Amino acid sequence: MSDERSRREVLGTAARGAALVGLAGLTGVLAVKANKTYAWSIDITKCVNSKLGALGVDVCEACATDCVLTLSAVRAVNEFSECGRCYICPAYYDITSAVGPDGLPSEKLCPRDAIEREAIGWIDPDDPANNFYEYTIDEKLCNGCGRCVMECKEPAGLGSIRLEVRHNVCLDCNRCSIATACPEEAYERDALSTV
Ligand code: SF4
Ligand code: SF4
Ligand code: SF4
Repeated sequence: MSDERSRREVLGTAARGAALVGLAGLTGVLAVKANKTYAWSIDITKCVNSKLGALGVDVCEACATDCVLTLSAVRAVNEFSECGRCYICPAYYDITSAVGPDGLPSEKLCPRDAIEREAIGWIDPDDPANNFYEYTIDEKLCNGCGRCVMECKEPAGLGSIRLEVRHNVCLDCNRCSIATACPEEAYERDALSTV
């Protein structure tokens, strides 16, 4: 992507965001860097949604609600190599919902239906719990609300889902409003070459 093109795209995204979010958005827009040197990232060891031992606490949705962009620059990512490919994934299903006739929870967890579930290989109908599934996050739908991250933790999950700042979308605001809102000080601003 050329500098000129990336500048146009960033400003185009910025203009749309500013129209929708008003002054807060404009503050972020004015902070757009044509040539980024630094970038915001999330320390997942600090984020309450992924932090080990943070069970039975309220999910933090500030990554979804506090970005200056209409659709936050934060997305959930499922690290396939760490995923258990569970038959009943607690990040995909709302495991507190009623069980349907197929033996599965009747409701999904994601409020934006951003998680896709696809069977891996041949499915044995006689032994459903011994079948495996791939869970993929649709980046066009996900807003980084973190609910799936909170649920995919031991003992129910393996912690394979985390939140990430998308650097091709993020405006790299000098004062990231999510960083300001983050209750865990999990936002870091690093030299781009190191993130
Ligand atoms: S972070 Fe929120 S919107 Fe994104 S996949 Fe998870 S539950 Fe859905
Ligand atoms: S710096 Fe923060 S508030 Fe600004 S666009 Fe990026 S994630 Fe959103
Ligand atoms: S604001 Fe901080 S604690 Fe909340 S979801 Fe984002 S990184 Fe995690």
